[in-house]
Amino acid sequence: MANAQASSGKQTARGGSTLGALSRWKNDRSLSREQIALFLDYEDSGLAWFWATDSDGALTYVSQQAAASLDSNVEELIGRPLNALVDLRTVSENDMSSEAATGRNVEFLIRAKNTFTHKEVRTRLGTEEAWWSISGRPQFDSAGTFIGYRGNASDVTIQRRERADTTRLSQFDSLTGLANRLRMSTRLQILLTGYKVAQRPCSLLMLDLDRFKHINDTLGHPTGDALLQQVAQRLQRIVGSKGEIGRLGGDEFQIFIPDEDDRSELGNLANHIIQLLSQPYVIEGNSCVIGASVGIAIAPFDGEDVDDLVRSADLALYAAKAGGRGQFRFYSSDLHSRAEERRLIEEDLRRAIPEGALELHYQPLTCPQTNQVKSFEALLRWNHPERGWMSPDIVISVAEETGLIVPLGEWAIRQACDDAALWPEDIRVAVNVSPVQFMTENLAGVVTSALANSGLQPHRLELEITESVFLGDTDGTTRRFQSLKELGIRFALDDFGTGYSSLGYLRDAPFDKIKIDQSFIRGAVDNSVRGNAAIIAAIVGLANSLGMETTAEGIEAIDELDFVRSQGVTSVQGYIYGKATPNTQVLEMVENDVIELVPKGPSRARSNRRTVLRKVGLIHDDYRYEVTMRDLSQTGARLQGLCDVPVGTRFIVDFGDGQTVGAEVRRAVDDWIGVEFEEHLTSDGGGDWCTKQRAPSRSDGHSKIARVAGQPSALVNDQGTAEVELQEIEEPKTQPRFRQSSPQED
Ligand code: C2E
Ligand code: CA
Ligand code: CA
Repeated sequence: MANAQASSGKQTARGGSTLGALSRWKNDRSLSREQIALFLDYEDSGLAWFWATDSDGALTYVSQQAAASLDSNVEELIGRPLNALVDLRTVSENDMSSEAATGRNVEFLIRAKNTFTHKEVRTRLGTEEAWWSISGRPQFDSAGTFIGYRGNASDVTIQRRERADTTRLSQFDSLTGLANRLRMSTRLQILLTGYKVAQRPCSLLMLDLDRFKHINDTLGHPTGDALLQQVAQRLQRIVGSKGEIGRLGGDEFQIFIPDEDDRSELGNLANHIIQLLSQPYVIEGNSCVIGASVGIAIAPFDGEDVDDLVRSADLALYAAKAGGRGQFRFYSSDLHSRAEERRLIEEDLRRAIPEGALELHYQPLTCPQTNQVKSFEALLRWNHPERGWMSPDIVISVAEETGLIVPLGEWAIRQACDDAALWPEDIRVAVNVSPVQFMTENLAGVVTSALANSGLQPHRLELEITESVFLGDTDGTTRRFQSLKELGIRFALDDFGTGYSSLGYLRDAPFDKIKIDQSFIRGAVDNSVRGNAAIIAAIVGLANSLGMETTAEGIEAIDELDFVRSQGVTSVQGYIYGKATPNTQVLEMVENDVIELVPKGPSRARSNRRTVLRKVGLIHDDYRYEVTMRDLSQTGARLQGLCDVPVGTRFIVDFGDGQTVGAEVRRAVDDWIGVEFEEHLTSDGGGDWCTKQRAPSRSDGHSKIARVAGQPSALVNDQGTAEVELQEIEEPKTQPRFRQSSPQED
């Protein structure tokens, strides 16, 4: 660092420069000896130093202290231009003056013969970076002719550094070192303003940690802080120099990525973030797991200024969380109404619970060998006065988000116990318990009192729990299981295979039953989704060896029933034995001693539960075929319209709307093919499947710029919306390899 203090060893040299100054300025009658002495004293103090130039800009005087601070000496500097010592074109980033903004640096001011004060410039000499604050005033002789400059300067390196520290404190989050909310919004503001003019895109990701609050509450704030630091490190590893990351507070993070509007890139990035953040963290020997949700908005499509863009990303984040955690979601214009929608549902639900407007319906679980009913699962039903029957998935997720799940869940347990108490002794009741409800301390108390009030035998009550309860606080989870198990009730592991599927907890947690999720049954029979049959066999084998029962969920067709029966599952739940019915019907059944059910359903399963009928594109060798999609699942689809396609052929399925996915043919009969996707689809949160990656498409109503396969294109139609089709594909470059069957009539 440059030394602001002249060392005392240079005193004699100073004498030389003083003489020089006296001889040079001796003609200046305005200076008395007294004044000159004062000037020398001041210079000697090292607080500031002086300089002078002639009319050509060459230095005629410079304080010895200044020369020393530049690792130079006076003799070397005299005669050189001032600009050789300091960079007169320096633009200080903190200089908010209009002069700085218009590029009027010191060089400009000197050329214009202006006075300047306290301009911060970077020194050019010396070994270390140093900054001077420099002032100067033009000098004129009695005839008014310019004769040069006189000025002073001082070293402000330390002050600048301190100022930078303060700036850092006010702009960065002290815990993680990431930018804070203020800095993010300022930086985004500047960026967006510039980008708007240049028509450049910028993406904003809002990120929220799932279950962070829980960890913070149970493991303590120091652990929470350490976790946030690790999250910040992981984020930096992923984002790198692509964008800027900020922590807005709590467990909220924000990332902006300049010049990025490719949804597939952004989707990949978001997925990568979610995956990496969901890996376990080790903090002081404890391992904990959290998840993350990401909402994405892209400027200028989803908002041109900071407020709009942040609002859009926030809505997308909300939708991502509502769609199930650990997901990302792009902003779309209908999200406004969805958020509002959920708020209305919440309001109504808040009233419906105490008013007794909710119902439990019961679906039988039947032994596939004897067709005897073994238990019923209680499923929530709500006949909303205006909306009609509501999907339990939506109701439950609203309830979970708002905390209403606690009273709702308590009501369900009590109601189910009351209802089941009137059924035959050998028929059990299963009640779903949300992970949020499972985490409440009072659950064992609720169960105890429900059993006591209803008189139901504890072994007749089975709680259905999903794998997600094993995320995070493992000690607390084990403790809860124990206290509930001591009551004598049973546990079923619900939706097995859809979640985190770690087998460890199967061994440790006291489950009596594994419920195999419907998504495994789907496609297992006709093998259109490879591996499902093997997975079911493995789950049944595993359960048997652990002494657990198995239920196959979602059985609709006779061939599915035959299949799971042959696999040895102990019970079957599905439309084949009946849908959920009100308790009055259950009571009718048992009063008439009907505890044996006749399976009824189609003889053959459609390979997919979600039957669809829609045209999609199949791209092969740059040729695009139009085919009809008949079934769609997360992992594959059945398509009709191409003949004699060899198994193993790879296509790109184009669902339209910029959604494409790679797929491989697994089965081909006549003009039907069954394909398996290279990447699983994801729920769009609205009950349909969509590709994780999307290219900007015409559905982006506000698109002003668009890009296809990395090529910027400004194909904007009259409405200002982007016209983006996969143009390379619309003009086939090759001949079709496969024969298309004549269009199907439906
Ligand atoms: P779940 O626990 O997996 O419940 C089984 C779901 O599969 C039910 O959907 C049931 O109607 C449906 N299902 C049964 N057999 C078939 C079939 O053969 N084919 C098809 N396509 N579907 C079948 P539902 O009633 O819509 O419930 C959805 C989810 O909502 C439940 O999934 C459960 O996670 C949640 N849920 C329902 N009631 C409650 C409740 O009281 N408390 C909590 N926490 N969650 C509940
Ligand atoms: Ca269930
Ligand atoms: Ca289930």
